[in-house]
Amino acid sequence: MNISRRNLLNAAVVGTAATTLPLSSANAHTPPNKAIHSSFDPWIEIRPDHVKHNIAEISRLVEGRPIMAVIKNNAYGMGIVNMGRILDDEASVSGLAVVKLSEAIELRDAGVKKPILLMGTFDEKGLEELIMRDITPMIYTPVGDALERIAAKKGTSVKITICVDTGMGRVGVPFREAADLIRDLASRPSIEIVSTMTGLNEIPDYEKMQIARLRDIQSELESDGISLGLIHAASSYSLFQSPYSYLDMVRPGMAIFGQYSSPKFKEQGLMDLKPTMALKARVVYVKKLLKGESAGYEKAYTADKDTWIATIPAGHVDGVPRAAANGGWVRIGDTNYPVIASVSASHTLVEIGPEEAVKAGDEATFFDWRDGSRPEDASAASGASVYDMIMHLNPTLPKRIV
Ligand SMILES: *Cc1c(COP(=O)(O)O)cnc(C)c1O
Repeated sequence: MNISRRNLLNAAVVGTAATTLPLSSANAHTPPNKAIHSSFDPWIEIRPDHVKHNIAEISRLVEGRPIMAVIKNNAYGMGIVNMGRILDDEASVSGLAVVKLSEAIELRDAGVKKPILLMGTFDEKGLEELIMRDITPMIYTPVGDALERIAAKKGTSVKITICVDTGMGRVGVPFREAADLIRDLASRPSIEIVSTMTGLNEIPDYEKMQIARLRDIQSELESDGISLGLIHAASSYSLFQSPYSYLDMVRPGMAIFGQYSSPKFKEQGLMDLKPTMALKARVVYVKKLLKGESAGYEKAYTADKDTWIATIPAGHVDGVPRAAANGGWVRIGDTNYPVIASVSASHTLVEIGPEEAVKAGDEATFFDWRDGSRPEDASAASGASVYDMIMHLNPTLPKRIV
């Protein structure tokens, strides 16, 4: 294969936080799309058409309820701003939800117009910064005074989302105390409750009890004329398992990125989800090992016959699961080659076999959207969780929209 370095450099490389931040004085003024990446280095490919397809599938399943799209953690590997831009003009997406304050601000400062929900933490300065940018904070503590001060400074009312803990034990006001907190916040004219959320634990009977707790709070307050706004609970798992949890709005993440939270959901056929991401690199070196020769730290692999092996310059620092050496594979051409030895920080070795069937420069796919090499297939072969694999993709990897 003729590797065209120029083609690779000219391909759409979309800036991430890391590529837009100056790394040293030498490249401080390098615009993000001019960042230099070796043509062999790993990259992520992005399919906006698949994102849109998945949104349409979710919307169909939930019968047109609004979708609060969870794009936290660098948009599950895709790049927060990339994803914000792709979703910004999707009519069925009512807002974008993230967990880190910095991601909420990055989205807004990149010009994303949709409502943004920050499901994470902040101090009073952070609260002011996000409200000034029309970002909706998730509230579960008595911060009414601070919200009123900021509203006065801004000269408008402040939109908030309440988080109620109905039985997960994480963040959220405990359900027994929720009505009092909400009464206090709702009594302040400059505060507007746009929605109220809870997180479900994925056990159906327990979830039903959780939802009943939320409904009880809602009816108690409604009888006093206080609205919780839209109520929402369903993550991707609940989309498949718990239609009773769709409520007024749904709050999926993984399904938007085209992955099934569990293999049983793919078989179930409720939604046809298409993976939105691929992780690729190029073979950098191919060599022959003679029978008895070894590879990897501590002789992790010993050839039991003469064999060709290929080195791919992507490792666990890039997001390749270490566990890939226990049954994972990399596709080169149309063949899945087993990962051998151990995955090191920046290298993965694959066994090619008795023929020199691949060469330096060949494209190597860790996962993509094809059946058989979907992210779920790659993570299952490695015994890794698809969530861990996707969310640990290195945010500095260059992204190409294809
Ligand atoms: C991550 C998250 C979601 C989305 O979860 P998925 O399993 O990716 O659909 C929904 N709600 C909250 C509070 C979350 O943190």
